[in-house]
Amino acid sequence: MYRKSLAELAADLQAGVCSSAELTQACLDRIAALDGRLNAFITVTADAALQAARAADARIRAGQAGPLTGIPFAHKDIFCTRGVKTSCGSRMLDNFPAPYDATVTRKLAEAGAVMVGKTNMDEFAMGSSNETSFYGPVKNPWDETRVPGGSSGGSAAAVAARLVPVSTGTDTGGSIRQPAALCGITGLKPTYGRVSRYGMIAFASSLDQGGPFTRSAQDAAIVLGAMAGFDERDSTSVQREVEDYRATLDAPLDGLKIGLPKEYFGDGLDAGVGAAIEAALEQYRKLGAQLVEISLPNTHLAVPAYYVVAPAECSSNLSRFDGVRFGYRASSPKDLTDLYQRSRGEGFGAEVKRRILIGTYALSAGYYDAYYLKAQQVRRLIRDDFLRAFEQVDVIMGPTAPTTAFRLGEKADDPVSMYLSDIYTIAANLAGLPAMSIPAGFVNELPVGLHVIGNYFSEGRLLNVGHRYQQVTDWHTRCPAGYE
Ligand code: GLN
Repeated sequence: MYRKSLAELAADLQAGVCSSAELTQACLDRIAALDGRLNAFITVTADAALQAARAADARIRAGQAGPLTGIPFAHKDIFCTRGVKTSCGSRMLDNFPAPYDATVTRKLAEAGAVMVGKTNMDEFAMGSSNETSFYGPVKNPWDETRVPGGSSGGSAAAVAARLVPVSTGTDTGGSIRQPAALCGITGLKPTYGRVSRYGMIAFASSLDQGGPFTRSAQDAAIVLGAMAGFDERDSTSVQREVEDYRATLDAPLDGLKIGLPKEYFGDGLDAGVGAAIEAALEQYRKLGAQLVEISLPNTHLAVPAYYVVAPAECSSNLSRFDGVRFGYRASSPKDLTDLYQRSRGEGFGAEVKRRILIGTYALSAGYYDAYYLKAQQVRRLIRDDFLRAFEQVDVIMGPTAPTTAFRLGEKADDPVSMYLSDIYTIAANLAGLPAMSIPAGFVNELPVGLHVIGNYFSEGRLLNVGHRYQQVTDWHTRCPAGYE
């Protein structure tokens, strides 16, 4: 059962080939048997899942099912889930059962999807390897000595290892796409504002966006359709109708103009990864697409601008964790200052503290103009580069990450080299554009991701571009050894 795609499972549920209770139990059994190797889950909600599955079965019998009704899935532990621990990968929230549901949580529940648990992640979504989690690192199912990517590493590993057919993630600088690439699955970051951020614990509010992890673009179209939409509780969510992403999956790619930024194919790109991407581009040419060299001249400024904007916003967002209202509280404080200092000192890990320090510095009086304001100006230049490019081309392609999955510990003590693993993904967040990673081959048995960036609200086009490729390739169907 677990080998099947979401679309196939939905058809089986409708036809009565299996029940959601059976399917959910099968996922729970696989998690129990295999997650000891991966550490992809922080919390497994077996009882609630089986109850939700029985309710989904009743709905299916009553003829009221949608494409997600009865489908088991996992939430990144950044989405608030009422009454269920929502840790954000941090000691700070280890004792926090969310008092309400995120909009994404509510929407998926209303669609009848069955949550089986919450997945491991870098602490407060800060990281590219899942090594900053309070709950320990996640292992990559393709090679358990390697990282799954981050920050949504647990969600990516869980789908890659066939523990669940679908999971959710969030992407502030690459946290859906980079782990999707390193784990050999499909991950989509929608346009900023397409998916509600209400109840999605904030890291950098102007960059964060939720999206799906699936094994195919076709499955992502189904899940995104359920996640997306205007939400009056999120003032940055966009009032715009959600398209039927499935309706356009099969559109032909004849005449599609693919932009290849020369800046994405230079120094720092692993030769094997580069060769896999070239082969994928050749496949697109055969599908009728036209390859056009373009330039995004401010690409080199994306990582530096991000590492001002994101820490600045995080230092502000994370100020709410003060040991007073919720979350971790240090024992026997001497006075209020001691309570704040020790609760934050003991509750946050090293990477989170580094970001808060950088952000607080960048926002402090006298430095604001030099750093934050300057970074916002650079951000505008990066966006303008893309807008110019989209006058010429329909989508932009390149590698999702410069290398395949690296070894656990390999970059843990070198923040700058870790930060550079998002060199291709960060610009889409700075500009607010939608982008996707799809499996596009292997180097030494480790997956490579093809990155596809689209213009604002072109999610339907991206999924179409992914689906047509997946119809003529089988990279997305490969399963890591030991998890077949
Ligand atoms: N790796 C990047 C960071 O550490 C992006 C993380 C993310 O997208 N949440 O900030």
